[in-house]
Amino acid sequence: MAVQSIIEYPDPRLREVSSTVVDFDETIAALAVDLIDTLHASSAIGLCAAQIDRPLKMLVMDHSADRSAPEIFINPEILAKDRYGFVEERCLSVPGISVNVFRPTRIQVRYRDLNGDSVERLLEGMPAVCLQHERDHFDGKLLVDRLNWFRRRRFRASIAKAARTGSSPADDLSGLSA
Ligand code: ZN
Repeated sequence: MAVQSIIEYPDPRLREVSSTVVDFDETIAALAVDLIDTLHASSAIGLCAAQIDRPLKMLVMDHSADRSAPEIFINPEILAKDRYGFVEERCLSVPGISVNVFRPTRIQVRYRDLNGDSVERLLEGMPAVCLQHERDHFDGKLLVDRLNWFRRRRFRASIAKAARTGSSPADDLSGLSA
């Protein structure tokens, strides 16, 4: 029960496909606490278990202004979607870039809560976008995959340079947003 370190691109563990949660036991409850603690230690609104090296279909979101309302979604499925639009996304595992992603901004979801009970809800706006972003992680799909070839090349070059020099990859990417 603590803040965990977040795996960053290009770590190959981010490409693993996450497994469905089957047992809703103490291990899952403890993982939920780690996810919430780690999310709250960051500036992000969403985090999934794969990002802290636990490849399970589980994520946390907190959209509240005072960071007091974290919600856990387990094995989320999208039942319906509409209202497509571009939304700027960032990712704790791919620091330094933002990408405009075209997605549905309203979705009907079904997921399990920490007791294993099935819940259905309509999500709109950022919560809808966030849930889809985290679901991409379940498939090993990252924001960097959505860059055009030119930006991807620049991003990879900046990562390589950062690895050589110990600087932050974000340093090279100012002006590259969206
Ligand atoms: Zn992400």
